[in-house]
Amino acid sequence: MTELHAQRSTILIVDDVPTNIEILLGALERDYETRFATSGAEMLTLLDDDKPDLILLDIMMPGMDGYEVCQRLKEDPITQQIPVIFLTARNEVQDQERGFQLGAVDYITKPFELSLLRARVRTHVMLKRKTDLLEALVSLDGLTSIPNRRRFDEMLHTEWLRTMRDQTPLSLLMADVDQFKHYNDHYGHGSGDDCLREVARCLVAALERPGDLGARYGGEEFAAILPNCDQQGACLVAERFRALVASRGIPHACSSVSSHVTISVGIATITPSEQTPQALLRQADLALYQAKRDGRNRVSCGGLDHRSGQNPVTE
Ligand code: GH3
Ligand code: MG
Ligand code: MG
Repeated sequence: MTELHAQRSTILIVDDVPTNIEILLGALERDYETRFATSGAEMLTLLDDDKPDLILLDIMMPGMDGYEVCQRLKEDPITQQIPVIFLTARNEVQDQERGFQLGAVDYITKPFELSLLRARVRTHVMLKRKTDLLEALVSLDGLTSIPNRRRFDEMLHTEWLRTMRDQTPLSLLMADVDQFKHYNDHYGHGSGDDCLREVARCLVAALERPGDLGARYGGEEFAAILPNCDQQGACLVAERFRALVASRGIPHACSSVSSHVTISVGIATITPSEQTPQALLRQADLALYQAKRDGRNRVSCGGLDHRSGQNPVTE
């Protein structure tokens, strides 16, 4: 939360006329991080690296005009949340209506007063921050403070689309605490909750790439999305997670697997084609049950290759 407020918001200006860009930079760069592009195509490549908090978009540009750029932004789930303000000399009601229909949040006609432009930008940036904050809050699990099932499902959808486009592998990891019911029965629910928080910390520690997402999937089940990660990489991450939990040495007097808390992990990897995200989830779940059947405290890989016991139980 504090992070959201500590950072300066970023505004992206898109206009084919350099003087317009200069004027806008002059008006905004004191209060915001600013970036600019001189065409729609250039803007779309800038967005691959970083998502701004607001886009000021000119309509009349050679090549792709502002309407088309806006339409593309709103069609892509990765960019559709970015608010767009049209900045244009076209002031017909129909033009403005079209802008709003395409999903713009505001429409400012040229020539404009810089003070009013700044005020409108401030309002929309504030709204975007509040939306981001609410999004962050509804996406976190109350017990462990890591992303929840809702966030996981959203991210799986987004990553699925990205993977389809880029044809890169996507891996999923599903983990479940071994004999956790006995743990709760023996140590009580308060200790059970503490244990789940510790397992969540291990999951966060096991994920090293910034694009990875670890979540509490429900109860004592955890899951992770590993974009652009093949089966071998996913096995490494899963094994790191398993070993981290085991190394915490949380006593579990009622486990038949070990004297301390352990997890079983299933993984599935795919380069999406006709398959669905649900099929990948099912595959990871099947692998998890394979790990349970094989004796728990281990990783099992999904897919055609059902290699398990990559990490024979040694504790
Ligand atoms: P297995 O090794 O086959 O996974 O056995 P298990 O006992 O872990 O599996 P089972 O699904 O039978 O039990 C899950 C238990 O997890 C049930 C419940 O006591 C506990 N649990 C689920 N969510 C929470 C939670 O939020 N807090 C606590 N303390 N316990 C939870
Ligand atoms: Mg379970
Ligand atoms: Mg369990």
